[in-house]
Amino acid sequence: MSIQQAIEKIEAQYGHQSEFIQAAKEIALTIKPLYDAHPEYEALKVFERLIEPDRIFNFRVNWENDKGEVQVNRGWRVQFNNALGPYKGGLRFHPTVTESVLKFLGFEQIFKNALTGLPIGGGKGGSDFDPKGKTDSEVRRFCYAFMRELHHYISKDIDVPAGDIGVGGREVSYMYAMYKNLTRESTGVITGKGVGFGGSLMRTEATGYGAVYFLENMLKAQNEDLEGKIVLVSGAGNVSLHAAEKATALGAVVVTVSDSQGTLYDKSGFNQEKTDWLKAQKQQSKPLAEYVDIYGGEWLANKKPWSIKGDIAIPSATQNEVNEDDAKLMVDNGIKYVVEGANMPLTADAIDYIRLHHVYYAPGKAANAGGVAVSALEMSQNSVRQYQTFDEVDERLKCIMKNIHDSATEASEQYGQTKNGYIDYMAGANMVGFKRVADALVAYGILN
Ligand code: GLU
Repeated sequence: MSIQQAIEKIEAQYGHQSEFIQAAKEIALTIKPLYDAHPEYEALKVFERLIEPDRIFNFRVNWENDKGEVQVNRGWRVQFNNALGPYKGGLRFHPTVTESVLKFLGFEQIFKNALTGLPIGGGKGGSDFDPKGKTDSEVRRFCYAFMRELHHYISKDIDVPAGDIGVGGREVSYMYAMYKNLTRESTGVITGKGVGFGGSLMRTEATGYGAVYFLENMLKAQNEDLEGKIVLVSGAGNVSLHAAEKATALGAVVVTVSDSQGTLYDKSGFNQEKTDWLKAQKQQSKPLAEYVDIYGGEWLANKKPWSIKGDIAIPSATQNEVNEDDAKLMVDNGIKYVVEGANMPLTADAIDYIRLHHVYYAPGKAANAGGVAVSALEMSQNSVRQYQTFDEVDERLKCIMKNIHDSATEASEQYGQTKNGYIDYMAGANMVGFKRVADALVAYGILN
């Protein structure tokens, strides 16, 4: 079955899962030169096998709110592919979570994790639970109830969850506590744990910092650097604020962050003091708009950051936040580099538009792989029961991001996707990630 036929098959079967179909098509479109060069992939139906998750667990989560009322949510864990190592990927708690969203995220995670060069497979999970407006005790009860179900399916060598949107250090700690309570094991079964009880230094910063390390490599390839560059960041969560922090430390001027209510624009840039204020504000779920009263700048209600002039965009909020109109705005406003801090923040049309206009484009599975890479380092630290220093982890992260950049560049060149000096990072990254997994599947025969 050709790649095209495999796509038609999943469209017929899962047509309603739009995010998943979008992610599968993106890979399908770009790996063709590689697939054609490896007839064994088609012979063993590698693509057809890869777009079907190994298994999906789907469970009910009962918990009690502060009034003692019973609440019911849905929970999932998608174990997508473990050819390279234990299923690995975060848990997302957000009302938009569906099986389609988790399948797209799990599918992306397979190739992202392969790109890190570390022994981890791909998975994802989560719940339609909305943490917004919940008290700490409600979040705690939900996390305990969620892990009471999830613990049946995971273990340090089988499937290792972590955080994602709506799941940070607090939630990971609650879930880990329930896992320990039920199994009496202290293991690396979940990553993003607190430093001091198994967590790795730098895990919190890793996704945002890693995206900026990737960007540094992209700039270097064009004989440029971050000094004085105007950067637009969307989102105001963990990835956004750490990307802003690192870009600023390396000389850039980060002028926007945003949330579902609008965009905060400060043309003088977010220095460390302002970034610390933003982190504290978000931690307490308080409005970004209050920034203006303290530091000035502008609050652009109900606006995205893309109408502002800049050199670099780092969309780090959520999937499909940048549509074709936004992509046009980016190009009109001088953006030369787009680095995805979030997973699939650009729609397919937006990607087409910016690539057509030769904007350098780093897809999430390459640019935001730093988070899961440091998660894998946390797993290895847990296995040998030792900690690495901040600097050791930072050095490893820099090296991993450079390797991802260089291998994507090389594949783009090798398969003729680099034209007139324009490096097609999307095609390159998809081919490198896909090849690593596909070669393992070929080696295994038809198991896996
Ligand atoms: N949720 C993050 C991602 O999208 C991190 C996953 C992990 O650390 O396992 O890659």
